Amino acid sequence: MNFELSSENRLLAETVRRFIKERLMPLEAAIDAADEIDPIVLQALKKEVIALGLFGYNMPQVLGGPELSVAAQSMIDEELGRTTMPLAEAFGHLPGSLRMVNDDQREWLVKPLMRADTTIAYALTEPAAGSDLSAIATRAEKVAGGWRLNGTKHFISAAEHADHLIVLAVTDSQAPLKSRLTTFIIERGNPGWKTLRRFRKMGWHGHPLSELALDDCFVSDRQVLGQPGQGFLTMMATINNDRLMVACKCVGIAQALTDLALPYVRQRKTFGSALSEHQAIQFMLADNDVELDAARLLTQKAAYLADQKNTEFRIAASRAKLYASEMAGRVADKVMQIFGGAGYMADLPIERFYRDVRAFRIGEGTSEMQRLQIARHVILN
Ligand SMILES: Cc1cc2nc3c(=O)[nH]c(=O)nc-3n(C[C@H](O)[C@H](O)[C@H](O)COP(=O)(O)OP(=O)(O)OC[C@H]3O[C@@H](n4cnc5c(N)ncnc54)[C@H](O)[C@@H]3O)c2cc1C
Repeated sequence: MNFELSSENRLLAETVRRFIKERLMPLEAAIDAADEIDPIVLQALKKEVIALGLFGYNMPQVLGGPELSVAAQSMIDEELGRTTMPLAEAFGHLPGSLRMVNDDQREWLVKPLMRADTTIAYALTEPAAGSDLSAIATRAEKVAGGWRLNGTKHFISAAEHADHLIVLAVTDSQAPLKSRLTTFIIERGNPGWKTLRRFRKMGWHGHPLSELALDDCFVSDRQVLGQPGQGFLTMMATINNDRLMVACKCVGIAQALTDLALPYVRQRKTFGSALSEHQAIQFMLADNDVELDAARLLTQKAAYLADQKNTEFRIAASRAKLYASEMAGRVADKVMQIFGGAGYMADLPIERFYRDVRAFRIGEGTSEMQRLQIARHVILN
């Protein structure tokens, strides 16, 4: 493994960091306070990222993406950890399952998405099925010319205004999990897609999560993503990349917090000395430093294995996701302590990072699900 950044990747990271600093950071506090982002503002930002050639940065060339290595995508994800969830959307990280589209779907679904003319959300979780996908109860019944879906999905990110919804539903309840589910694309305007409510939540302000009902929702055969019965495999094919993305974002959050803490400990004086001279503070900085480095190395190793098409990527992504998401929470906690009362106030972004980072231990497979995977791997190998 080579730890040297290539000149292209260094340039890429600098470009993303500059865009975040100049175009996104000035908007962060107001969006967080209002818990709302103006879709027109977001779309304009997306168009700027399109001009940079980085929109849909996780998409292959065949879908109009820049075909970046996983290592390069990871660097972008790390930089995006520095900003908020709604503003990170400007870079258009699209669902990996779009790689399953057929030629027809590429035209009507992917092309408008890559032009930032439309948006898409991904609906997997249900009130009785989160970690346990075998409990998914949304049903899709075959009818003439298509399928009729019934069920409830909840905690769905950015579905409120989405033009399309990717939905996982049971198509063969008797089949084993691997062939029980099918993925469908539902279009805005379908009378069977109803938003039930928006959740109030701890963090990720401006990035709404909603509950929605599929009520005799008819979709045509051309709206099946992949083949019927392939829904579980389609999801599993991309989940490791999503876990790595979360891990990288958490590294970015911890780095951003560290970047705030270091000048502060040098400048802030208590009892006649800079905070940096108090051993209790030094120890917090040392622990953060080691943890951040360890998490970054785990993400780099996972990205390396992904680019090598090495099957160990699956477990490496789990390790990185588990460790980095928990690490960033510990770093946020220590940095808030280092800032004292100033860390708790919303004048600084520390309390926002503290709130936002918590969700990463839950989404894309909880910490417990990662531990189960890793334990099985350790025991069986
Ligand atoms: C901010 C945010 C954004 C989200 N966005 C989306 C989205 O866009 N689309 C989507 O489909 N979903 C989304 N989700 C939902 C998310 O994927 C689920 O919340 C997650 O998978 C956990 O499922 P659950 O909430 O039903 O918890 P449960 O599965 O009910 O688990 C509850 C607790 O029990 C633990 N647990 C469960 N089973 C075991 C076991 N066998 N052993 C040990 N511990 C266990 C879990 O780890 C957890 O701590 C989002 C969630 C959040 C918080």
